[in-house]
Amino acid sequence: MSENCLFCRIIKKEIPADVVYEDDEFIVFKDINPAAPIHLLLVPKHHVVSLQDIIPSDSEWLGRMMSLVPKIALENGCAPGPSGGFRLVANSGAHGGQEVGHLHFHIMGGPRPWSGRA
Ligand code: 5GP
Ligand code: ZN
Repeated sequence: MSENCLFCRIIKKEIPADVVYEDDEFIVFKDINPAAPIHLLLVPKHHVVSLQDIIPSDSEWLGRMMSLVPKIALENGCAPGPSGGFRLVANSGAHGGQEVGHLHFHIMGGPRPWSGRA
């Protein structure tokens, strides 16, 4: 946990969020400023800044995080199959447009057009 990290504070329930999924390792909540009709943030509960910090020994939990994506998307209204689907984004570092320094996957879905941000 990182004292001044916004997402660590959401994980610790110090700041409210609209949580749609939670287990021992991960939490998923709605983005406060959605860029698509469905816009969720999938976040590991331990503090990792970005994909820039990932090393080979992270592959197990990162694999579990990745395999949660389609389940979370379907359970939260993203349409199945090739005519539905979702967009997965992980902004990493300043040049990647990352604003919150705790690794997160944006899961965005719903009928287009969207605003395109994120
Ligand atoms: P980044 O630019 O770091 O990839 O994305 C950060 C995301 O976090 C943005 O889409 C932003 O709307 C969202 N966000 C920022 N502050 C909060 C907050 O307090 N609560 C929630 N639920 N989302 C937030
Ligand atoms: Zn954090």
